Amino acid sequence: MARVYNWQIRREMSYWYPENRPQKQFAAVFDINKCIACQTCTLACKTTWTSGKGQEYMLWNNVESKPYGCYPLAWDLKLLKQLGPQQWNGGGYEGRTIFEAAPAGQRVLGWRPDDHDFSYPNVGEDDCAGKIENGTNLHFPHLTWFFYLARICNHCTYPACLASCPRGSIYKRPEDGIVLVDQGRCRGYRECTQGCPYKKVFFNPLTGTSEKCIACYPKFENKLQQQCFLNCIGKIRMAGYISQPENAIPENPIDYLVHVRKVALPLFPQFGLEPNVYYIPPIHAPDSFLRQMFGPGAAAAIETYRKAPDDPDLAGLLSLFGCSEQVMPRWKRENDTIIGAEENGAEIVRVPLREPVYIREAFDKKYNVARVNCP
Ligand code: SF4
Ligand code: SF4
Repeated sequence: MARVYNWQIRREMSYWYPENRPQKQFAAVFDINKCIACQTCTLACKTTWTSGKGQEYMLWNNVESKPYGCYPLAWDLKLLKQLGPQQWNGGGYEGRTIFEAAPAGQRVLGWRPDDHDFSYPNVGEDDCAGKIENGTNLHFPHLTWFFYLARICNHCTYPACLASCPRGSIYKRPEDGIVLVDQGRCRGYRECTQGCPYKKVFFNPLTGTSEKCIACYPKFENKLQQQCFLNCIGKIRMAGYISQPENAIPENPIDYLVHVRKVALPLFPQFGLEPNVYYIPPIHAPDSFLRQMFGPGAAAAIETYRKAPDDPDLAGLLSLFGCSEQVMPRWKRENDTIIGAEENGAEIVRVPLREPVYIREAFDKKYNVARVNCP
């Protein structure tokens, strides 16, 4: 085991290979508050990459309702239980990562889902936490809540799938940090499906190899956002590159949201993989739940996000989500206009800080029709 630095848990940790960061690291921000669980992303991915034989059950992108939704079954609960107590002290993690908690003879603490675990992709959909009594939803605040968690492979800095593979069939691309399975080398030992805590590697029984999200690399290499990003109805997603915290560039949208404003957080950072999909937590779920899921920064992130209406930079950047198929590595605000740009500053798209609102007349004299205007 090597010693590597993981900035998300603010300490060194053990990992199977020495630290070897890519020149650039693909990363994404998902704003959970805007997801409507339409599953358009799921289908965009499915029809692009996993419509073949042996791939029927695969959802490289899935959207589950928390707290009860999960695909495969209990993917998070099982590992959290195996891992035991997870203690944070300030911003630092004092518990064990899944690499440090690996049983003797294994590289990673994990478990392998079976066919049954993959049989219920919609389990828990729209199920609330808390008891629903008569009139509950008419009174605020109430204790019934759920939220939608869209999930893809995190293209982790310290991938457990890669560490688990005894044949060295999984690799992390030096140019963009995307994690791929070499289909020619893979022999289907399924150590990766056991090791990935997010359960984002899938075994194809027809080819006998493992397959996973490829971050739509043929698009990303051409500066285009992934299929699940492009098709997102809620415009919750933005793809780009992330820097190390000490090298954060405020003009880089991902760096700004993750490092500068700290409003987007990794999923289960305590597992130790330094995952590279970052979530803006839902504002209406209990802090204890969000703290376990996104780490100790959850409450502060929500506080910052809640103030976005009076924060033109943050509100402006959030309005750039879903506005272009092109990756926008840079952004800036010019008064009431937000500009998404290339790395060299060339403009890609501009959007207004506030969308204009037009209120129609209830009776349209020109066309002689009455319209219903909902407030
Ligand atoms: S999320 Fe899982 S499959 Fe993706 S890189 Fe991390 S460990 Fe590997
Ligand atoms: S397409 Fe966007 S809004 Fe719809 S489920 Fe997927 S992430 Fe959520």
